[in-house]
Amino acid sequence: MIKLGKESIRLNAQASNKTEAIRIVGSLLVDSGNMKPRYIESMLLREKVANTYLGNGIAIPHGLPKDRDLILDTGIAVAQFPAGVQWNSGETVHLVVGIAARSDEHIELLANLTDVLDDEETVRRLAGTEDPMDIIARLTQPREEPSALATAAAVQADDFAKWVDVALGSGAGLHARPATAFVEIAKQFQSEIRVRHVSKLANGKSLVSLLKLGADERASIRIMARGVDEDAALQALAAAVNHGLEDEDESGHAAPEAGSGPILTLAGSAIAGISASPGLAIGPLRHFRREKIVVAVTANDPAREEIRLRQSIEAAKVQLRELHDEVKERSGAARAAIFRAHEEFLDDPDLVDTALERIKGGHSAGWSWRETFEERARDVANLGDALLRERAVDLQDVGRRVLRLLADTLEEEPGVLDSPVILVAEDLSPSDTAKLDPAMVLGLCTAAGGPTSHTAIIARSLDIPAIVGAGPAILNQPEGGLCVLDGDSGNLYCEPSEADLALARAAQEDWQARREAERLACYQPAITTDGRRIEVVGNIGSAAEAQQAVDAGAEGVGLLRTEFLFLERSAPPTEEEQFETYRAMTKALNGLPLIIRTLDIGGDKEVPYLSLPAEQNPFLGVRGIRLCLARLDLFKPQLRAIYRAAETGPVKIMFPMIATLEELITARAIAEEVRRELHARPVEIGIMIEVPSAVLMATELAAHADFFSVGTNDLTQYVLAMDRLHPSLARQADALHPAVLRMIDMTVKAATAAGRWVGVCGGIAGDPKGAAILAGLGVTELSMSIPSVAAVKARIRKLSFADVEALAQRALACKTAAEVRAL
Ligand code: PEP
Ligand code: MG
Repeated sequence: MIKLGKESIRLNAQASNKTEAIRIVGSLLVDSGNMKPRYIESMLLREKVANTYLGNGIAIPHGLPKDRDLILDTGIAVAQFPAGVQWNSGETVHLVVGIAARSDEHIELLANLTDVLDDEETVRRLAGTEDPMDIIARLTQPREEPSALATAAAVQADDFAKWVDVALGSGAGLHARPATAFVEIAKQFQSEIRVRHVSKLANGKSLVSLLKLGADERASIRIMARGVDEDAALQALAAAVNHGLEDEDESGHAAPEAGSGPILTLAGSAIAGISASPGLAIGPLRHFRREKIVVAVTANDPAREEIRLRQSIEAAKVQLRELHDEVKERSGAARAAIFRAHEEFLDDPDLVDTALERIKGGHSAGWSWRETFEERARDVANLGDALLRERAVDLQDVGRRVLRLLADTLEEEPGVLDSPVILVAEDLSPSDTAKLDPAMVLGLCTAAGGPTSHTAIIARSLDIPAIVGAGPAILNQPEGGLCVLDGDSGNLYCEPSEADLALARAAQEDWQARREAERLACYQPAITTDGRRIEVVGNIGSAAEAQQAVDAGAEGVGLLRTEFLFLERSAPPTEEEQFETYRAMTKALNGLPLIIRTLDIGGDKEVPYLSLPAEQNPFLGVRGIRLCLARLDLFKPQLRAIYRAAETGPVKIMFPMIATLEELITARAIAEEVRRELHARPVEIGIMIEVPSAVLMATELAAHADFFSVGTNDLTQYVLAMDRLHPSLARQADALHPAVLRMIDMTVKAATAAGRWVGVCGGIAGDPKGAAILAGLGVTELSMSIPSVAAVKARIRKLSFADVEALAQRALACKTAAEVRAL
């Protein structure tokens, strides 16, 4: 236990506000040699993002986790304010307990402090005492030793039936920060959560209650849950404890691709989901509703029902064609393509035949159709694959479209949005999102879905802040209640306090002002303060996006994902079609460079009409360049179209997923053969670096490639062995992990030695933190989604190359992704 001496107590202090009070207690800690003076600023900063008021007139200011290196020796200090200090909204504090803690050596003191909390009489006494020993004695009072029997392993009367025992890590006792992290996770679940530490029992959703446990490092705790989502709650909490709760706090969560806003941390509890689209939205919550479609179960004229079914399917196809054209006009061909795929579903004879069988059995067309498509969607969803689950959503969507035409009545028609809202839904289908009016949707939050779900993609393209995978708890939130949705951190705060709301509004204003300033400066080049230029280019999937990229300030296209031209259709695009598309892009780019990546199908990108054999392990199967080399019928027409388009503007070719030298040499030879056939001019040929073997062979590959572009999305998944689509691994699969950064460093060194340039086109290039580190590693081109361009350019213009180089070296030396983010 740490010592608390008289020199660390200040009696009868006076302060006119919270900042002064924190400075007083901070100075005590500095004078006692516990921390450097700069930690006081860190304590003040923490107050901006978290509330350290504990209750009953006591506050426990402490600094930000990232500033822990300013702590010299763990200690606490107490300033007594008999007249009181105003803390946040209306809280009057009499005892300010400043904490400078490297880890959890102060936990016993904290537990004593929380014991005092319930005891108003003691607080009053300590707030007025003239003897520092009173405070010292109460806070350092020895605590009850656990009896041998009262261990976590023994089931006790108050325990729930479902529980899990976990051990806290070294230096990871349940003190303020980890306990806050625990409570935030616990509050996402509806179940009651309790935590037992020896004979003490705590409410897992109450910070004070958890602190009272006094569980220090390596303590064994029992987490218990009772309720509808008890298993999920136990799993999430145990995983969080095993990962070290405090680390999570520091990491600031996985950064979204375009996130350049600060992570907002409000005092109120948050429902945490996965960040899907950056930005901050504040507005009333509105539940998304679909109408209830009522159909009769039976019908006595099967022939008539068959006609009704066939007519409804045809009518739905007409609707889909109209919708396709409308969305194409509004959001481009890539976004519209899904409705072509829906049309394909309706051509599936198996689906129609099964429904007809049911009609023959005496059922109505509506009932038969509903049974059939729901059964099929269930089967697909049960296959357990993230992508197939999204196909199941599509099936439901198109199934309902037909069903609506067969309905006897439609109940609870969803009202049109007439004022801006934060829309909350179980999940949104493509048809749902196509109907959304972006002007009325401030933010989106879905219970289901992952970062690659349809909702996430649409939200990003519409620049609407969004969270996905927030869990079923959001569906119980009251309609109309004010919410703060932070798309950068993935947190939804429902019914925030006035103080939180004020913080969120200020953050939103800052964010909007900054975005506006960045937008105005988006055409200025990204040159560091000491004169180093970084090329900032866009990732696109369609000709419309080429134009949008230019308008957003991109200096060209660093990655054209050509697979978008192949998706959601019934046959591959012809050479002519591809040529026309690429030519439209060079026209839009008007002399700016266009890097065309050859087809990267397989893995997470499936194309039904290619009838590719099912893969046991698609990310390790025939994907990317492997598929191109196996399917020259696809590869050669694409190369022909690219060489022809290269006559219309500065085009480069890039091969995806190169894992071996042989692949590169073979692919180049095929490209050269095509070029000769066309008598076309040579173009630069580069490769994606997204497989660890390519990094290790970068020197050899550089001899055959004109440039490298690091695909950090895949490189991270292969280096860390974490599926990039996995909803619960998404937070950990961080491209700023030192292992990934070291891989990029190796790539740059090998390329530089061979006189080649290196770009990055994975998501981290569009994260301003990532962009700075990548530039410092010697990456000279950053290619990102269009909304990130202005923010990244603005960020680079503020930095010096010398600084980012030093930053990159520090990042390379880090041990965890959280440490890198804390830099
Ligand atoms: C990557 O892997 O980082 C990349 C840019 O390619 P994609 O996301 O298309 O696989
Ligand atoms: Mg990739």
